[in-house]
Amino acid sequence: MNMPTEPAVLMQAEGQTSSVASDPTLRDRLIEAGILIDTGENGLYGRSEVFEDVVDRLNKVITLLGADQSAEVLRFPPAMRRHDFEDSEYLKSFPDLAGTIHAFQGNDRGHHRLLEALDKTLAVGDQERSDEWMDQQKPTRLVLTPAACYPVYPLIARRGKLAEEGAIVDVFAYCFRHEPSIDPGRMQMFRMREYIRVGSPAQVMAFRQKWIERGSALVRLLQLPFEIDLANDPFFGRGGKIVADSQREQQLKFELLVPVATPNKLTACLSFNYHMEHFGEIWNIQQTDDSLAHTACVGFGMERTTLALFRHHGLDVTKWPEAVRTFLWGDAAPMIADALARTGTNA
Ligand code: AMP
Ligand code: ZN
Repeated sequence: MNMPTEPAVLMQAEGQTSSVASDPTLRDRLIEAGILIDTGENGLYGRSEVFEDVVDRLNKVITLLGADQSAEVLRFPPAMRRHDFEDSEYLKSFPDLAGTIHAFQGNDRGHHRLLEALDKTLAVGDQERSDEWMDQQKPTRLVLTPAACYPVYPLIARRGKLAEEGAIVDVFAYCFRHEPSIDPGRMQMFRMREYIRVGSPAQVMAFRQKWIERGSALVRLLQLPFEIDLANDPFFGRGGKIVADSQREQQLKFELLVPVATPNKLTACLSFNYHMEHFGEIWNIQQTDDSLAHTACVGFGMERTTLALFRHHGLDVTKWPEAVRTFLWGDAAPMIADALARTGTNA
């Protein structure tokens, strides 16, 4: 079995110091240029045509990159069953990031109270508003999806035992995380494209290694400077540091990091996760021999990668490097075939 890339191995493209630095002015420049649209809430943006065009094109090259995977393409809305979310143990690790969906489910009296409370809220004008009207809102059976792969595991489990070759699924969804920030790379709603592997430990580890190499090949074709390193997830609470240390020690998660906007810090644009039998156990996903399935996923942060392109190649996409333009707007297939042949991870 191939072991993951050594932590912190520098895989930076050649470049001058300025091109590998983050840029704290990026958010303002993107808003000024109309590429991102400020909604008045940190981490919630509108996207312009040019931003969406880059996201679409990235999405297409990711499809080409995974064309040999015969992945089952599934698309879910940005919400999932609360039941499945409760089972997932997300609340153990990231209670502060989760978003729930509430709705009014009362009667006429409740409606009256809601409107009264809303009047009070509106009366304060533009000042910080009270959320009293929300006392009338009750939880629905849905929550916002925290990561695009979450709806997949219970679905695979419901289908019964895995086939010998396991399963590969391709998803793409808006995700929610309650982490309002001025950093444009830290949004509250953003898209993740993912490939998910379910199978034996060997199948899953080989998949992750393959995607560390392929993700690196993609970012090289985008001509972005990057590093691969072990992740440092923000697990909640006093025990959080211990969980994060253990995640690092077991090399469960690698990230591909690019200087984007955060000052003095790189931003994770892709992540490569090995969950061991965590999800297999929660949902009882079984392999043909009855043992628990292992899972892994590769996540492409669509907004972060797009922001990285604007950061490094400029706000005018017509002036991006010729090879990057050909890759995104021209015929990417031969470039990908060539890159895959070089990584030795073609089918
Ligand atoms: P994670 O599950 O935290 O590894 O996230 C998967 C990918 O989603 C990351 O590699 C990022 O590219 C992207 N991502 C995570 N959090 C955010 C966020 N707050 N804003 C934008 N992109 C994010
Ligand atoms: Zn995932």
